[in-house]
Amino acid sequence: MKAPAFAYARPRNLNEVFSLMAEHGDNAKLLAGGQTLNATLNMRLSEPGILVDLQAVPELKGLHIKGDVLHIGAMVTHTEIEDSPLVAQHMPLLRAAVPHIAHRAIRNLGTFGGSIAYGDPAAEWPTCLLALDGVVLARGPQGERRIPAQDFFTGLYSTELQEDEVIVACEIPLKSGKRAFAFDELARRHGDYAVVGVAMTADVQGNTLRDVRLAWLGAACQPLRSQRTEAVLEGQAMSEGLLAQALQCLKQELPTEADLTHSAATKSHLAGVMLKRAIKTLTQPQANPA
Ligand SMILES: Cc1cc2nc3c(=O)[nH]c(=O)nc-3n(C[C@H](O)[C@H](O)[C@H](O)COP(=O)(O)OP(=O)(O)OC[C@H]3O[C@@H](n4cnc5c(N)ncnc54)[C@H](O)[C@@H]3O)c2cc1C
Repeated sequence: MKAPAFAYARPRNLNEVFSLMAEHGDNAKLLAGGQTLNATLNMRLSEPGILVDLQAVPELKGLHIKGDVLHIGAMVTHTEIEDSPLVAQHMPLLRAAVPHIAHRAIRNLGTFGGSIAYGDPAAEWPTCLLALDGVVLARGPQGERRIPAQDFFTGLYSTELQEDEVIVACEIPLKSGKRAFAFDELARRHGDYAVVGVAMTADVQGNTLRDVRLAWLGAACQPLRSQRTEAVLEGQAMSEGLLAQALQCLKQELPTEADLTHSAATKSHLAGVMLKRAIKTLTQPQANPA
């Protein structure tokens, strides 16, 4: 199918974006890389009167350290993250997750902000943002709001973002050198959305994990953490018994939902497999920074 006819605007700054949004209201749709939106237009799931292209808006670009956070402009592409030495050094979880996002041609166009705004429960960035205690910077006519990832994702493809707001960036706190990271997912084919995946971070001392963060993709109708399972693992020396307790807790805690190909029970089982792998990665000596 072909997209319905639409007008097109290419504003050169955020003020122009807000003027267009005010003028056209919910008839306007923001266009980032088009890697989700184009498909929904072609399938006529969405029929906006005008696309407001964000490509030429300088305020939405830039990937840099700002004080004690990594600042990721909304229009930073998946490829920029993949190729960034800054990300490899300071945010290895993002570097580990990015190859799982589709294929390079899609990563060249798709953006961090677009992925966060869309809030796909099986997408990698929303889950990483949760695991890393990230914050979404949303700007609208009333000014800028800082929304913790924990509060941003509210349901299936739904977020805290208001109709008149634009995501300008996300910020992720930099952590100490003791922090270790693991990302893993199961997909039917490489590049497909995850069936189930996990992003895990913790301070690792020997085989003990502290300040554990466990966030899931693909498991439920939104990206979410499993805080009771985190608590089981917190500050305890890793052992077969502790792992069994964590797996049991995860099974009870994670509200897995069936999709077209996998039952809730299968997802629950696969989440356990992912947890075991992530803990193994974290407690391997090479996972622990010096
Ligand atoms: C074949 C294929 C496979 C894919 N596989 C994966 C995968 O495995 N994992 C994964 O995570 N993604 C996958 N994607 C999606 C891809 O990662 C997209 O880049 C991502 O969904 C965001 O798209 P985009 O940045 O191009 O935004 P667009 O498609 O342009 O926009 C997406 C939505 O976000 C809104 N939006 C965009 N930017 C902003 C902003 N700054 N503020 C507010 N709203 C905004 C738009 O209005 C629209 O509603 C896949 C895509 C394709 C085509």
